[in-house]
Amino acid sequence: MVCGRFAPSPSGRIHLGNLWASLLAWLSVRSQGGTMVLRLEDLDPERCNQHYCDQIMCDLEWLGLDWDNGPVYQSKRTKLYAAVFEQLQAQGVLYPCYCTRAERLAASAPHRSDGVVLYNGHCRTLTPEQKLLFSQTRKAAWRIAVPSETISFEDLLQGTYTENLAQSCGDFIIRRSDGVYAYQLAVVIDDGDMGVTEVVRGSDLLDSTPRQMYLQRLLSLPHPTYGHVPLLLAPDGRRLAKRDRDKAMDELQEKYSARELVGQLAYAAGLLDEYSPISPEELIPLFSWEKLPKKDFVINLQKKPDFC
Ligand code: GLU
Ligand code: ZN
Repeated sequence: MVCGRFAPSPSGRIHLGNLWASLLAWLSVRSQGGTMVLRLEDLDPERCNQHYCDQIMCDLEWLGLDWDNGPVYQSKRTKLYAAVFEQLQAQGVLYPCYCTRAERLAASAPHRSDGVVLYNGHCRTLTPEQKLLFSQTRKAAWRIAVPSETISFEDLLQGTYTENLAQSCGDFIIRRSDGVYAYQLAVVIDDGDMGVTEVVRGSDLLDSTPRQMYLQRLLSLPHPTYGHVPLLLAPDGRRLAKRDRDKAMDELQEKYSARELVGQLAYAAGLLDEYSPISPEELIPLFSWEKLPKKDFVINLQKKPDFC
């Protein structure tokens, strides 16, 4: 049985790009007769709140996307994350990192071209005395030591994706210094625990997948199938972000009915030869991974679409 998921972060109102990825995740699962779970990734108490959770659920329902299980709130599952954290500690793969942000930046020249800062492994080899000294004045984040080894998978849309964790991201954070468990850990535990077999999400998370697969291996969890869908770009070529108010949900809902919006997304996805209003349900038989675009693209929504 195929099981997919919506896994939004309730740190703001969702935007068109989230809806696009959610629609495709839902269609893939429903076209295989599978089930969907809704998980609210609200681990960061400073950024997430219940109001955004409620709004996200309303917005998904408004569009016509439903789920069979959930909502599951990550913030209520920290006991589970703590238990797995201890298990990884017992496996000897975690170590405390006392570096400040400034120290990490200073020590990691050159940065990757996309601005990602590779951790140089400074705290991997601290002696017990050094750890004791640091721990008196600083709170530790916990990192996982990654092997210099190639991890590869077949993406449903992007083909073969390969990465060497040591070269591309270095030892990554599992628990932040403020005690919040990292996205990478929580997502792997939850996908495993909820029996998720298919992960469909935006291609901005493509390079998280090898990290997640490494954790799945350490925790003896199965690897789901992955499909990373292209991102929607604003007319100036930037990725859509929560600040793109013109694409934000309240404004979209003023301009379009749900059927009109789904029709425009479906047309952009290549699931319709020409635009027409349609429901997600009616799109199920038309869904196929082969039809979907692979590259990020600019979406232009109009009040009365040209192609109408
Ligand atoms: N919560 C993440 C986000 O909204 C997505 C997590 C995932 O799909 O794995 O960016
Ligand atoms: Zn460090």
